[in-house]
Amino acid sequence: MLRVMSESMKAIRVERLGPPDVMELQDVPAPTPGPGEVRIEVEAVGINFADVLSVAGEYLTRTRVPYTPGMEFAGIVESLGEGVTGVQVGQRVAALGGSGALARYSVVNAAGLIPVPENLSGAQAAAFPVSYFTAYHGLKTLGRGVEGEWVLVQAAAGALGTASIQLARAMGMHVIALASTDEKLALARDLGADVTILQDDPDRVQKVRDAAGGKGVPLILEVVGGKRFQESLDMAAPQGRIIVIGNASREQANLRPVELMKRNLTVTGLWLTSLMNDRAATMQAAQALAGLVGSGKVTPQVGPTYALADSARAFQDLLDRKTTGKVIIEPAR
Ligand code: NDP
Repeated sequence: MLRVMSESMKAIRVERLGPPDVMELQDVPAPTPGPGEVRIEVEAVGINFADVLSVAGEYLTRTRVPYTPGMEFAGIVESLGEGVTGVQVGQRVAALGGSGALARYSVVNAAGLIPVPENLSGAQAAAFPVSYFTAYHGLKTLGRGVEGEWVLVQAAAGALGTASIQLARAMGMHVIALASTDEKLALARDLGADVTILQDDPDRVQKVRDAAGGKGVPLILEVVGGKRFQESLDMAAPQGRIIVIGNASREQANLRPVELMKRNLTVTGLWLTSLMNDRAATMQAAQALAGLVGSGKVTPQVGPTYALADSARAFQDLLDRKTTGKVIIEPAR
């Protein structure tokens, strides 16, 4: 039966790009699922650094305004568009779209839904897709990490950092964690990091090299960029692999290719959005992650949670490095 949905809902809208306080809570028409789509009642939205960059107009893709941010979320399937099969109303799912999740309801293509293991809450499910798939690809698909090898995890208490520590440990790798405060390092240790070092320790380069046996680290997940990128090169072992995943400093980095030659270093870029087009790599990651999450070996780290009306504060706290784990916004609050 065709349902007419003319009700309105609360949603975050961005009409001009800028800092987090450009986000406004508005009443907007609730979306209706078209053919092949489902409408989901959003339980929890996982906030990524990419969301902050997108609102600022500094992301890898152009942000078109007006829009509703929120690319990663979990919720309950509330209604089905024409022709949708294999999904039930009432089922909890996660989804990874371009935008639109910071709202009471979100409509997405049914083909892109991610089933949620029963042992995960809505908030845990929303904390999962971006961070864990990215961590897996950084450590394994592109990083080619192996059991017993050392890996350096930057911003170790953040969403991607906590996922990377857990996955690296589950793969039998040894972890050196960098973060900006002692509290963040304590969380990294709780998750299994073998060595923790303050991000601003004046001797950090030597300490990281020493921790990995004196010759440097074979695999580095680089997320800070700017002048810290040069330090990652200095921390790398001969033939080391540096996987460039982020640029949280929002500063330019300088790379002198000759320096890579001298120690046979490899620098590889990783962007989850484009890597998802690699079906085989995505399936392999999904299979490995489903086993680890389903068995409880890794648990998505839910950080601070906020009401929809406090979205700007959530984004600002992430930007100000005040958060650990995945920042979550709950539209029903
Ligand atoms: P996090 O939860 O890790 O939060 C960002 C963290 O970055 C902060 O907590 C802070 O940790 C660290 N940081 C270091 N320098 C700065 C700085 N100058 N300003 C602000 N923060 C800084 O966020 P995410 O897990 O969402 O993302 C982490 C990084 O990974 C980001 O760069 C993001 O863009 C990237 N990413 C890339 C993906 C891809 O597909 N390429 C997918 C997912 C994430 P501390 O205080 O400990 O230094």
